[in-house]
Amino acid sequence: MASYDFDLFTIGAGSGGVAASRRAASYGAKVAIAEGSRVGGTCVLRGCVPKKLLVYGAQFADHFEDAAGFGWEVGETAFDWSRLIANKDRELDRLNGIYIGLLEKPGVRIVNGYARLLDPHTVQVGSETFTAKTILIATGGHPVLPNVPGAEYCLTSNEALELPALPESLVVLGGGYIALEFASIFAALGVAVTVLLRGDNVLRGFDRDVREHLATELGRRGIRIVAGVVLERIEKTQAGLVAVTADGRRFEAGQILAATGRAPNTRDLGLEAAGIETDPRGGIRVDEWNRTNLHSVYAVGDVTDRVALTPIAIAEGRALVETLFNGNPTQVSYQNIPTAVFCNPPVATVGLTEERARAMLGQIDVYRTSFRPMKNTLSGREERTLMKLVVDRDSDRVLGCHMVGPDGPEIIQGLAIALNCGATKKQFDQTIGLHPSAAEEFVTMREKVPEPTPVA
Ligand code: NDP
Repeated sequence: MASYDFDLFTIGAGSGGVAASRRAASYGAKVAIAEGSRVGGTCVLRGCVPKKLLVYGAQFADHFEDAAGFGWEVGETAFDWSRLIANKDRELDRLNGIYIGLLEKPGVRIVNGYARLLDPHTVQVGSETFTAKTILIATGGHPVLPNVPGAEYCLTSNEALELPALPESLVVLGGGYIALEFASIFAALGVAVTVLLRGDNVLRGFDRDVREHLATELGRRGIRIVAGVVLERIEKTQAGLVAVTADGRRFEAGQILAATGRAPNTRDLGLEAAGIETDPRGGIRVDEWNRTNLHSVYAVGDVTDRVALTPIAIAEGRALVETLFNGNPTQVSYQNIPTAVFCNPPVATVGLTEERARAMLGQIDVYRTSFRPMKNTLSGREERTLMKLVVDRDSDRVLGCHMVGPDGPEIIQGLAIALNCGATKKQFDQTIGLHPSAAEEFVTMREKVPEPTPVA
């Protein structure tokens, strides 16, 4: 039998790679992990975590504004962007240290440097080569700039998280997760934000009511959304930057953030030489066991270009290790993945949209409510919360829960369990509401939304 330096060699110490490596080592496997940047990956260092810290920072603007109605005199407030960024960076350093510890404790060897596959069992990092029985590619993804002249002037989410100073104005290209999260953060901090969409509305793929409600509320918060825009070029002027559209409109701003999607990190990995198949966007093709076309090489997370969410990368990494190192064949279920966009107000969703459920099943019932949360009465804030349930008429099973409003992500996580258990609308109705809360609306919706009139 061939002998290798390691049982598992993981390339990339982000969420998926770290989860898999730690667990494999805890099962007694000899494991190494290569990382060319810092241990932690996109989620911890350039994504979910720093973004959410900035979201928290930005939310104080609302709290100060709302306080007066509750009897508080807040007085003059001042915001120091560099302090927030420095504190955020300190927290990331702490997390980086924790992640290194999580790897070292079970005995994972950390190899600093970018790794490259030489053959199905050999990896090169700098001048060193390592052999492994199994190689796991978990290299994640990176932001993609739009393919127009001047795109290099744009920030991506990486730079937006480390801006030395707040601009007075910001143009955001794109209307997805990253675009809206950063638009909300910067708008709350007093930046004039314009979002340019190529489509007709924000968050393509989300429920239509959610998209419309959110666009209204973002507008109420002063974010200008311009739909149907074809970006032609970015110009640099003395005053800043200009996004020029195909119809000649010019959108000027201190900074432009390109939030037009992400692509898998597969460059210089040696995939072609090793014979690993990729899809047209560069994502590594894997089967339901996360195995590539080479029997000894696996891939998890964003590099496979399927569901780019941290908990999915972690679940894939752990499932793989259960299968290979614990005699417990495990596959990840991609059903009912809850997800949230941490814009302001946040969007949270699990299961099918109304449009998708109608297309798949035809016969569905829809329940929807829109209300002004109790907190907004004394504060005088006009913002409304939207909640929506999509139900299979035949089985009465709840197929989708959608929310736009404060605490949506916290509420939808619990409902995702109900959906995974196959909960019916009747069971939602039988559940006692937790009063007074916004969440109780999910168990008190009685009126069906009238059927849409068929198009003649
Ligand atoms: P998304 O796919 O969510 O959004 C990309 C946006 O850019 C869309 O609005 C898209 O428009 C637009 N776009 C794409 N190409 C162009 C182009 N050439 N010109 C103009 N507009 C363009 O990508 P993100 O980068 O926001 O995020 C990537 C992924 O990361 C997300 O899908 C999500 O899986 C994950 N993520 C999750 C977060 C969370 O869980 N909170 C936070 C951040 C990211 P159109 O709709 O027309 O295609």
